[in-house]
Amino acid sequence: MYPQIVPREIFDRVRSKITANKYGKLSVEVVYLLRHKLKCGYCGQPISAETGTSKTGAKKRYYKCYGRKNHNGCQKSMMRKDQLENLVVSTIIDELSKPKTLDQIVAGLLEEQERYIKEHYMLNVLLREQRQVETSIENVMEAIERGVITNTTTKRLKDLEARQEELDRQILIERSKNAVRVSVEEIKMYYKEALALEAQMLINYIVKEIVMYDDKIEIFFHKPTRNSPDESRGCFVYKGRNENFDVQIWIV
Ligand SMILES: [Zn+2]
Repeated sequence: MYPQIVPREIFDRVRSKITANKYGKLSVEVVYLLRHKLKCGYCGQPISAETGTSKTGAKKRYYKCYGRKNHNGCQKSMMRKDQLENLVVSTIIDELSKPKTLDQIVAGLLEEQERYIKEHYMLNVLLREQRQVETSIENVMEAIERGVITNTTTKRLKDLEARQEELDRQILIERSKNAVRVSVEEIKMYYKEALALEAQMLINYIVKEIVMYDDKIEIFFHKPTRNSPDESRGCFVYKGRNENFDVQIWIV
């Protein structure tokens, strides 16, 4: 089930954790690894834990669309807990263990970072124009004081004031952004550390949201960089197929 490309010790650690959760010797509470992360791709409702009992009396655990549970008309089928957790965790570990994927992530994040910083440089351009507009307004005011009042000067003043207002607004937006530069090493370290975590921690640390369809899983990772959220355009990580599911991973 786990591709052999996954480093043996990581595979063993995650498997043992999942197994321990499944049979929980000391704790009666069953851990649903993906709880609070899953969303139904059809109706947008959360996907929550569901327990059933088979004819033989054995407990069966599932993830079920909360909307369907409440009869909102959603037809999203239930998925076995272990199957979904193994699928998601193995896909994440498998992909993050590949140097090629990591390089792709690094390239995507650095590109976004450079774009961000370039846009941030806009602040200097805006401040320069703000000074120019202020000088122009002073000049027009002086002309008006000297008695030079024509339709042209009035219109010019109105235009300048409108531009000044717009610049103030844009400068405020630019100032609210924080320029942060993250290095290749820091990005790689972030994922290296993530891979060293046990499954629940890994999911909490790295996964923002998982959108489930009956034939497709979209996994959204948190961004390791700290640009303001509105800057995020996302970075594509992986597209593949795993156990009858199209799996896509994004960093958003
Ligand atoms: Zn649903």
